[in-house]
Amino acid sequence: MCENDETMRKRRVMKKRVTSDTELIPKLGRLGVLSALIFTFGLALIACSGGSETDDGASAPARASSSAKATADEDHDHTSEHANTGDGYDGPYPIPIVATTGMVADLARNIGGDHVSVSALMGEGIDPHLYKASPGDVTKLRGANLILYSGLHLEGKMADVLLRLARRQPVYAVTEELSEDLMREPPEFQGQYDPHVWFDVSIWSRCGEFVRDLLAGFDPDHAEDYRGSAEPYLAELAALDQYAREQIATIPEEKRILVTAHDAFGYFGDAYDIEVIAIQGISTESEAGVYKINQMVDALVTRKIKAVFVETSVSDKNIKALIEGCRAREHDVVIGGSLYSDAMGKHGTQAGTYPGMVRSNVDTIVGALK
Ligand SMILES: [Zn+2]
Repeated sequence: MCENDETMRKRRVMKKRVTSDTELIPKLGRLGVLSALIFTFGLALIACSGGSETDDGASAPARASSSAKATADEDHDHTSEHANTGDGYDGPYPIPIVATTGMVADLARNIGGDHVSVSALMGEGIDPHLYKASPGDVTKLRGANLILYSGLHLEGKMADVLLRLARRQPVYAVTEELSEDLMREPPEFQGQYDPHVWFDVSIWSRCGEFVRDLLAGFDPDHAEDYRGSAEPYLAELAALDQYAREQIATIPEEKRILVTAHDAFGYFGDAYDIEVIAIQGISTESEAGVYKINQMVDALVTRKIKAVFVETSVSDKNIKALIEGCRAREHDVVIGGSLYSDAMGKHGTQAGTYPGMVRSNVDTIVGALK
């Protein structure tokens, strides 16, 4: 046997997904299809690592699959040639994993425990929408036995690098198996999904389940350990989800409006019942025009909004323009605090973990608006 049941099940699921994603080409854009291909290809490589050498992402799953069948059908003396067949992973421990964002790394670290060594490319204050992989990053990525990224176009400028790497290495988006009905698709995002899913903690914990199942399939020898570490981590996320809901509910309803620099908090708003108004759209790539700033000044003056928030990974230039605009109309607005939107805080601090970053945001928002 080259594949365990779990991998087989996933591959069947992904086969279906690729078909449906292909139908969604215009809707999802290139990376949606790309990540489906990357995902399926990654699974195929894991299913039969040490098997076929492949160089073509699109046809690889079929080829790796037929190679797996051939191995299984041949006589059993080939086990030395395919020493890892059936084990899934025969590389070094701890398994070198490279993640793009800190939030993705946090999932892998907590669920992988001692069996993995995780590094994140993007540290504190880094904007993933604009991030380009440096030559050093590419070296780091090549050295990884597993690459994890957030997906849904978040790492928009890394798509080509990820595709290239996926030809030789397992590369996965942790959002890959999220069902479409969980995702926001606001009209201003022009047919793309909102990638900031980590701000609905219940959705991010599904990404945690994905990482748990992925690691268990990737390294079946330690599958029980991964399931064991995932349990308290996912329980912590469930408690965090509850905390956010309860805390935001303490803000009087008329004051429950979150004004931010870019639209990272849509899921947060939906999940925890707070209205969100952002100057920039889905990605920090688009510049907010004077018209948009003036529109927002109107909204703040009319609705008597007293506090706006800056983000650690986005320039505060637009927020400052907003405050100036309000002042010119004799309405005082203060900066309510700094929120962690697309990057966690400094490693070793409370906000340097995913649960810590969410908690810090909730406390900052409640402290300023209540
Ligand atoms: Zn963002």
